[in-house]
Amino acid sequence: MTSHELRERFETALMPTYGTPPIALSHGEGRRVWDADGRGYLDLLAGIAVSTLGHGHPALVRAVSEQAATLAHTSNLYVHEPGVRLAERLTSLVRAGATGPTGDIRVFFANSGSEANEAALKLVKRAAGPGRTTIVSTDDGFHGRTSGALALTGKPAIRDPFGPFGLDVRFVAHGDTAALRDAVDDTCAAVFVEPVQGEAGIRPAAPGYLAEVREICDNTGAAFVLDEIQSGVGRTGHWFAHQAEGILPDVLTLAKGLGGGLPLGACLGLGPYASAFAKGDHGSTFGGNPVSCAASLAVLDTIEVEGLLDAAAELGDLLAGEIAAVGHPLVTEVRGAGLWRGVQLSSPAAAAVQSSAAEHGFLVNAVAPDVVRLAPPLTITREEVREFTGALPRILDRAAGEERPA
Ligand code: PMP
Repeated sequence: MTSHELRERFETALMPTYGTPPIALSHGEGRRVWDADGRGYLDLLAGIAVSTLGHGHPALVRAVSEQAATLAHTSNLYVHEPGVRLAERLTSLVRAGATGPTGDIRVFFANSGSEANEAALKLVKRAAGPGRTTIVSTDDGFHGRTSGALALTGKPAIRDPFGPFGLDVRFVAHGDTAALRDAVDDTCAAVFVEPVQGEAGIRPAAPGYLAEVREICDNTGAAFVLDEIQSGVGRTGHWFAHQAEGILPDVLTLAKGLGGGLPLGACLGLGPYASAFAKGDHGSTFGGNPVSCAASLAVLDTIEVEGLLDAAAELGDLLAGEIAAVGHPLVTEVRGAGLWRGVQLSSPAAAAVQSSAAEHGFLVNAVAPDVVRLAPPLTITREEVREFTGALPRILDRAAGEERPA
């Protein structure tokens, strides 16, 4: 089928979710994807921080096909080795990056980021003492599209049409510790935060913010839930972004890049939160199925074997430095860490940059009207970074309505 035909049939057969993307993808290899008409693109988005290893990485393909052929599913009624090994692996990565003792850590596996946050919500409610019914979250923060996760999402335009949610949520500005101190009291079960607000446009808080969140939660007895669904699993050059700040949350949620393309979410409970669920409290038919867990183990192994944390840090700096060096008037700032960058524009031209980039053979994303998001596979090469930054002047010129000769 051609792209045109696929798009037309898509519109009839599927409900709309995001703005319908104009590109119908057919296949991928490494950092490249091709559309149904055979046009190639350098993928600087990785399905929004999902394809950690790029497309068709042999380690991932092998792990998924071997596991699919061995035992694809257990309905969560039975124990399986990939799930046990992955849970142990994730807990040891959290421990290894901690500056002090972590206590117990246990994992619940889900299928998505939203579901990981739903599990976190139930977990903190179970652990909360009587009278602790409020949750504090952040303006412009994003935690998912299911009802509980949506209630915590600080974007009124996507949240409010679907309320009321039956959850008492107080919103404060991300990074504003004075407002947080006011909002968190002894009625508060948990504080939900992202280390860097991804969907808000890759917006980091000032250094030290997470340490203050930690202190406020310690002083009030509220649980500190850190949503690393977009920032985790190597994206920032660390296994988890919080490890750069020397703090530990009480509950950590992961998804996106965790499965390297296979659906997988995780909710990790630390200390008392490791044992807050009783038997029968929570579950999922598909969550943590053997194939997704095998894929995730391959992702974590490959990050180690190929040195992808250091690569993310190094190539992320190269990417940000080269974008800044272009010196285009449309670009005012490059934010973020590792291979997770927000390019701030001087005008609401992000959609124009996204389509201009696609015309030039690059996939990027307009995360906000004036911010372009880059989150390429962690396997991206120096040459591929330069291929993009070399084309960037032409991409930005066309987006700004000016052309320069190739
Ligand atoms: N939390 C954060 C920080 C996210 O970026 C996202 C996805 N954009 C989610 C939660 C929801 O994840 P999912 O789409 O897998 O439900």
